[in-house]
Amino acid sequence: MASKHTRIGAKLITVAGIGALALMASAQEATRRQPVSAYPTPTEFPNQDLAAVNKYLAEARRIAGDELFPDFIHRCIISPRYPVRVRGIQFDGLVEPTKLFDQLYSVGQNAVSSHALVTSAGIVLFDTLNSPEEAEKIIVPNLRRVGLDPKNIKYIVVTHGHGDHYGGARYLQQTYGARVLSSAIDWDMMASEKGNGPFAGLEPPKRDMVIEDGQALVVGDTTLRFYTTPGHTPGTLSTIFPVTDKGQPHLVGLHGGTGGGRDIPGLQAGIKSYVRWREITSKAGVDVLVANHPLHDRGIENNELLRARIPGQANPYILGRDRYQKYMQVMETCSRVHLARLGGKE
Ligand SMILES: [Zn+2]
Repeated sequence: MASKHTRIGAKLITVAGIGALALMASAQEATRRQPVSAYPTPTEFPNQDLAAVNKYLAEARRIAGDELFPDFIHRCIISPRYPVRVRGIQFDGLVEPTKLFDQLYSVGQNAVSSHALVTSAGIVLFDTLNSPEEAEKIIVPNLRRVGLDPKNIKYIVVTHGHGDHYGGARYLQQTYGARVLSSAIDWDMMASEKGNGPFAGLEPPKRDMVIEDGQALVVGDTTLRFYTTPGHTPGTLSTIFPVTDKGQPHLVGLHGGTGGGRDIPGLQAGIKSYVRWREITSKAGVDVLVANHPLHDRGIENNELLRARIPGQANPYILGRDRYQKYMQVMETCSRVHLARLGGKE
């Protein structure tokens, strides 16, 4: 009896299996039958100055060389022309929190970053993801997983006034009493944009500390320097701060708006900001790239390399001074490509 039952059971499974395969096949056909007219197309730029586009594309490609080729294709080509590909990679998803430097941790998610800088006077958190829920269910547990206490968050730097960066700030401000920093312009923007687009109903943090261009903030043993770098938003805030990698000193340049400008005025401002940011970071000796989206500093890949790092291997976030400058020059030149696509002039 037992063997008969088994046979019948196996037969049933086979039949069910064929049924499932048939369903899968018809689903695939249904997908194939989606009208071609519904397929995404590359973004068109009817006003583009093609000669200028080609000139700056070639220039950005040359500056990027092989080492920065992925950053060049992302900023110059994929993001502006094939945004659906960006959405395919930059989706909301959980990733492992990771120690990047002796005092810097990645505690964000796949689409957008949050970084915790540990000082002798508490934690400085750069950005807070999309929402109060992400702050509570991603940032807080990630901090704990790397051995940090969220009660020690002293300051929150909002790199710019878009919801994916300030979304969790109000929650952390209210829960832990953290002070929140932004430029005056982006404080205004957060207040006025409340309820816009994909962030409908999202409450910005209560207006707190206003940071001026060139301002320094001393937090215990660590000095942060802030610069306003308009472009991505009118009051994008960029920060320079020191870290150590296994005791060796390095300097991080966290540009707050590597997503670049969206329209002609934003791109024009962004190009000027990149020129100035390159001067500032070059003089300061910045050699580490940390960005506010993993897609902008290869955060997912770098963190994987760091978790598998063996003694003697380089920290992939340390680009060196020259390559850091080249990266920013590629961003600047891609902004020129995009300005030419929109038919604008510097
Ligand atoms: Zn943004």
